[in-house]
Amino acid sequence: MALPKHRQSHSKTRLRRSHDALSTPNVYACPDCGEPKQPHRLCAGCGSYNGKKIIQFDEDTE
Ligand SMILES: [Zn+2]
Repeated sequence: MALPKHRQSHSKTRLRRSHDALSTPNVYACPDCGEPKQPHRLCAGCGSYNGKKIIQFDEDTE
């Protein structure tokens, strides 16, 4: 089985992990219903995009 010849230093490990952090998603309030929404994505609250209703949610099934 292949094994690494040398143990990686803490510095090398930390340098690699310096790019691992997740950034917080950009969220703003939907102009149609006020629900939090991400840009370039369909609103999860009302199903609208760019002022137009794209999908209709069933209110009775909740
Ligand atoms: Zn909405």
